[in-house]
Amino acid sequence: MWAGIGDALSKEYEVVFACRKKNMTHTPLLGKAIAAASTEPLINFGKKALGDCKNNVPTEAIEQVALDIIITAGLVSNFTVHENNPDHAEDYYYNSSLAHCVYYGASLFPQCEQQHLHGEIVSFGVLCLLTYDGQLEERNRFFEFNHSIGLPCTLGEIALTPDDVPAIAHKAASVVEWKYVPGNPTEERFINAILATDKAGREFLANK
Ligand SMILES: [Zn+2]
Repeated sequence: MWAGIGDALSKEYEVVFACRKKNMTHTPLLGKAIAAASTEPLINFGKKALGDCKNNVPTEAIEQVALDIIITAGLVSNFTVHENNPDHAEDYYYNSSLAHCVYYGASLFPQCEQQHLHGEIVSFGVLCLLTYDGQLEERNRFFEFNHSIGLPCTLGEIALTPDDVPAIAHKAASVVEWKYVPGNPTEERFINAILATDKAGREFLANK
């Protein structure tokens, strides 16, 4: 559930970001609208749900978070991906974006990939996406949330260092999500966003 929260944190930000400046049709538009419902339950119920899980108490908080991770995220995924059409003209892949790109890049490093869960790494990726997109106030809100439930705010918490970042960005530029990043993404801009996130995260933790 802990890593599931980290993974589901990506849904609204990645989908809304990937859909930007696209010619949207009915089904992905529905997916984008549903994605907008995925963040708040995690913020409102996530910490309590984790505590209730530890204590083996069935509560509404657990139910709300489970519905978010499984149902909301599942619906959005089904509505926002359409691939491998014969002529590829109608293909789209709005289901994930730069947060998962951080995960794909991080998976190159065994010390990260073997010791840290998918959703844990993705939750750091969400911070990087928000930095990349200039949503710094929202990112700072997620420093607080991540830290409150033990999700990472820095590269070091997922066994990575700034030296690893160019390889992460290079891998990111090779995956399907990269094609749907709005604007003209460059590895350099992504590297700078990840490094800036790590720096801000270290400053955030130093003041805790
Ligand atoms: Zn994921």
